[in-house]
Amino acid sequence: MARTRDQGVLQPMGATPSHRRVRQFAAYMASTFCLGRHLRGLRDRRRRVEVPGFVIGCVLLVGLALRARSMMELERWVRAGAFRKLVGRHRLPLRDCLRDWAMAADVASAWAINDAILATARKNKTFRGGSVHGWHVVALDGTEVLRTQARCCAACQVYRHRDGRVEYAHRVVAAQTVRWRHGDEGDYPSRCKGRDVPPVVWGMEPQRPKEGEVDAALRLLRRLQGTHGHFCDVVTVDALYAQAPFLEAVRALGLHVVVRLKDERYAVVQDAAGLRRGRRYGEAFVTRIGSFQVEVRAWTARS
Ligand SMILES: [Zn+2]
Repeated sequence: MARTRDQGVLQPMGATPSHRRVRQFAAYMASTFCLGRHLRGLRDRRRRVEVPGFVIGCVLLVGLALRARSMMELERWVRAGAFRKLVGRHRLPLRDCLRDWAMAADVASAWAINDAILATARKNKTFRGGSVHGWHVVALDGTEVLRTQARCCAACQVYRHRDGRVEYAHRVVAAQTVRWRHGDEGDYPSRCKGRDVPPVVWGMEPQRPKEGEVDAALRLLRRLQGTHGHFCDVVTVDALYAQAPFLEAVRALGLHVVVRLKDERYAVVQDAAGLRRGRRYGEAFVTRIGSFQVEVRAWTARS
């Protein structure tokens, strides 16, 4: 109970909308992030416009931020009048309207709102002090957003199975801030005490047909650096990304990489085990691998 006031948008609003919370959140977004101005930049290609794009953007953004669990729930909030005072005389969108808008929306103009919010958050020092032990850590990972046998488009990944089935899928790579429990610093190399930062999504990049996840991830990383500059210090990835061209490209961008490898078949995992042999955790030493001089610091990690 004592935490309720501090939860902000982290606590889902639930089935019954609180008009006060919607108004408070919208007022905060308007004053801190100039939400109204950014929403007016939202574009779409609808032929018949019954509800203006910025009204739809407002309902979607405020609704999703307050954790509407489905479009049906969001529609219930609209019908209950939760957004009435925000949009004044304009009509409010119901589910069908939101769907039609989404099909014709200019996605780039929606991402521009995300970019603007993140730029303001950085200016307001939201991420100062890093997200994990003083470092700002961002996870890169691919995920499938839909898979079907019924329809396809020019952007689909095509999977032809041995039994003759053909499946079409869309995949994206996302970059999201990783955060760590405040105060639990352990024995890790640490720049300063961590603090709670929001686990924001910096961007997503669709995987093009026949393109690998790693290539899409690199394109995303380069685009994010182009938009936000040095927006993170460390990138964490899974074993799929343990490829020299990717690691070199990320280092060339001035970022560190943490690759999570567990499979003992990887030569690098065997090398690490060899380096660690006979040493204590917490020990730092310099050694050679081939012609490279490497500095090794070993510490234990809880999985
Ligand atoms: Zn498609």
